[in-house]
Amino acid sequence: MKKTKCPKCKYQWQTSSAMMYITCPNCQRKFEREMKSSDKTKQKPQIKRF
Ligand SMILES: [Zn+2]
Repeated sequence: MKKTKCPKCKYQWQTSSAMMYITCPNCQRKFEREMKSSDKTKQKPQIKRF
């Protein structure tokens, strides 16, 4: 689950959708999700060890 923020109304919610375009549940506006490889929030190297 990823946290998504609506650029229109600033509403935040969790979504598991992997679609390019998502609809805000608050204002019902469709917008393009940021598909950048680098997250500006947190940059942590993902190392999985078993
Ligand atoms: Zn919205």
